[in-house]
Amino acid sequence: MSAESIAIVGSGVAGAAAAIRLAERGVAVDLYEAVPEPKPIGAGLLLQPTGQRVLAAMGLLDEALALGTRVDRLFGDTPTGRTVLDMSYRRYDAAAYGMGLQRGALMGLLWRRLRELGVRWHCGAAVDGFEQDADGVTLRIASREPVRHLALILANGSFSKLRERMAVAQHARPFPWGAVWTVLPAPPGFPQIELRQRFRSASKMLGLMPVGKADAADAQHGINLFWSLPVAELDGWRERVGLAALKQRMTALFPDVAPLLAGLHDAEQLREARYADVWMQRWHDGRVLAIGDCAHGMSPQLGQGANMALIDAHELAAEIGDDGDWPQVFARYTHRRRAHLRFYGQASRRLTPMFQSHAVVAPWLRDRFFGWGGRLPYIHQQSIATLAGVKTGWLWGRLKL
Ligand SMILES: Cc1cc2nc3c(=O)[nH]c(=O)nc-3n(C[C@H](O)[C@H](O)[C@H](O)COP(=O)(O)OP(=O)(O)OC[C@H]3O[C@@H](n4cnc5c(N)ncnc54)[C@H](O)[C@@H]3O)c2cc1C
Repeated sequence: MSAESIAIVGSGVAGAAAAIRLAERGVAVDLYEAVPEPKPIGAGLLLQPTGQRVLAAMGLLDEALALGTRVDRLFGDTPTGRTVLDMSYRRYDAAAYGMGLQRGALMGLLWRRLRELGVRWHCGAAVDGFEQDADGVTLRIASREPVRHLALILANGSFSKLRERMAVAQHARPFPWGAVWTVLPAPPGFPQIELRQRFRSASKMLGLMPVGKADAADAQHGINLFWSLPVAELDGWRERVGLAALKQRMTALFPDVAPLLAGLHDAEQLREARYADVWMQRWHDGRVLAIGDCAHGMSPQLGQGANMALIDAHELAAEIGDDGDWPQVFARYTHRRRAHLRFYGQASRRLTPMFQSHAVVAPWLRDRFFGWGGRLPYIHQQSIATLAGVKTGWLWGRLKL
């Protein structure tokens, strides 16, 4: 660690990608991670064309594609057969597709790259606090000496306490709904080209997505299974509901899932996910910057969180000048990211209750108008551009990477 380097807190997608992009620009980086031995785990991710472009810029896209699975279409319906979503990437761009990828596979690639670049990665280093002055930032790390850095990038997730120390108006509101998820072995012949969702109102949702292999040595392709639950029911679901009853609920909603559920035999295979809506008036405060979920946590409904984290890292590196004026770099970053992040924050807040809530009217309208609207070329274009991660406004505006 050095007073001349930049500190990044958190080695998830945002922190690892930022460390890589900065190191590639010749910036000395110290990366701090609370977990003593980070393991490549996490929910299956749908990586959008924009996130794929960032991976290509890092030289990692081909390896990611070899691990992941191409997803050409999103299809969602109700048990009565009413189409709610039917979106094809090809209608956005003939060459475009989503990439279903295990988060662990992505982390494996990013962590290997940051080691190759010589980033100093300090694991088991939980950052407790920081103070900034005119010349730098002092970090306080549990049971270690304080350390000095030129600037600090917070990438420690939606529930960051460090973010609250930034002098910036902000809120982090936990969503009332979360999920249980797991990656299961794809049974022979199981469809692997589309993301499939089944809804009953907004209170029941099952999602399936092909996510490829965990690593290059793995022969087994996986399917990510997502089951929506109110947060109040997440706590203690194993004792109250149990695995057998949960599986019954899944097959009652979507009978086609039965062959996949043969691979789900232990409640511990299912992991719980909780998420928060994070809003910040700006993402910089002098020598401190927030990126990734720490800066703009959202629900996974739009499939954008990891994608946004990659774009944040890429766009931050694009603002680095020769002057080493980090407060200016961070201020320029906020300006550059504003329209894109604002749009997706608003879209996540408006759309999530249509898919995860006890609401009655919103999902009723969704079931009647989404499928119908999707058949209109303009609405379909807008919807698929939203999914592809390129929109910077409700009516027009496209991200240029
Ligand atoms: C069920 C589910 C499905 C999802 N699906 C998609 C999808 O399809 N597409 C998509 O793009 N996104 C998706 N996401 C969102 C995506 O996973 C997140 O947006 C992304 O992983 C956020 O990365 P991050 O690096 O910002 O934060 P995190 O992954 O939360 O990483 C934060 C890191 O900081 C570390 N840390 C925390 N506190 C400290 C501290 N004090 N000191 C040091 N280290 C610390 C943590 O240990 C962790 O390693 C999904 C999320 C969920 C839950």
